[in-house]
Amino acid sequence: MPQLPSDPNDETLQSIVEALAGSGQAVSVYDAEDNLRYANETYRGMFLRNYEGPFTFTDILRYGAANGFGVRIDDGDVEALIARTLPRRRSSRRKSFETDLLDGRWFWIEHTVLPNGWVMTVGTDISALKHNEKSLRQAHESALLASRTDLLTGLPNRRYILELLDEGLAAGMASGAGLCVAIIDIDQFKTVNDTYGHEAGDAVLRHFAQIFRESLRPGNHLGRIGGEEFLLLLADVRLDDAARLINGIRAGFPPVTMPDQATRRPIAFSAGLTAALPHDDRSSILYRADHALYVAKAEGRNCTRVGLGMDRAFPDHVAAQEKMAART
Ligand code: GH3
Ligand code: MG
Ligand code: MG
Repeated sequence: MPQLPSDPNDETLQSIVEALAGSGQAVSVYDAEDNLRYANETYRGMFLRNYEGPFTFTDILRYGAANGFGVRIDDGDVEALIARTLPRRRSSRRKSFETDLLDGRWFWIEHTVLPNGWVMTVGTDISALKHNEKSLRQAHESALLASRTDLLTGLPNRRYILELLDEGLAAGMASGAGLCVAIIDIDQFKTVNDTYGHEAGDAVLRHFAQIFRESLRPGNHLGRIGGEEFLLLLADVRLDDAARLINGIRAGFPPVTMPDQATRRPIAFSAGLTAALPHDDRSSILYRADHALYVAKAEGRNCTRVGLGMDRAFPDHVAAQEKMAART
């Protein structure tokens, strides 16, 4: 069997260079002083274009940066990039990394340091892969958003607002910051449906959600947990300030315009408010808020009532707990 020659002859070398020249991969060879000794057409298109030298690694980077092509530099500071890159250029014999260009293409770079200090890089265009990755990521993000959003109101849905409640309780325990929670229920909502129809009811829900959401600071959340029932999470706030905030929103609540565009109707809601206690979990805090809501309804609606500690809040302990267990 003939041996594979380990030392290529001139004809072989010539063919290798020709193959590299026409390759879609980007090939470069720099000597130990970082002068460019070889660049194929693809590499030249990426980093040289009409550049006339000097052909050192740093000058080539600077020329691209000054003329709007070559590698994308996030902060635009080519000198900082050079300062970061140079000490690492020969620190390991082989490495690979991805890089993106100002023209939007992405390359996977194989970087090899030869024993004599020369550096060869071979770059493969991975733009198509990166674009796939991006659309997959976008699809994932919109699926995630959809799974967390209530279709009618655009608010966080029940599952998501309860997750946010768990996070808020955990964060409050870690930092000691006050979390206040309210269950809010629109008053006499069934009457809207019965009088004006289901679509008018939907319009009321959307209006309620929009006005409430606009009244909240970032970091506070309102989610829809049931038909006309909402969960409000207020971070870093004392109970009396939370009550003031809810009552302020109630006082300024604009009436809703019905789908007939002629009828305007005020909206009233009741709120059961409570503050997180050190050992609260999801069900214990909702239990108090729900009971406070029950009291608000019983005391005439259109008001906010506060649920204090378990021991003081209510006598109908078992009934309320069973109700919560059925709902969460
Ligand atoms: P209260 O003041 O005691 O809360 O009385 P209410 O009429 O608001 O409460 P009730 O629980 O009697 O009625 C709630 C109604 O909400 C009944 C249900 O048909 C309606 N509902 C639930 N989800 C939706 C929805 O998505 N759209 C509409 N239009 N109505 C809904
Ligand atoms: Mg109601
Ligand atoms: Mg209700």
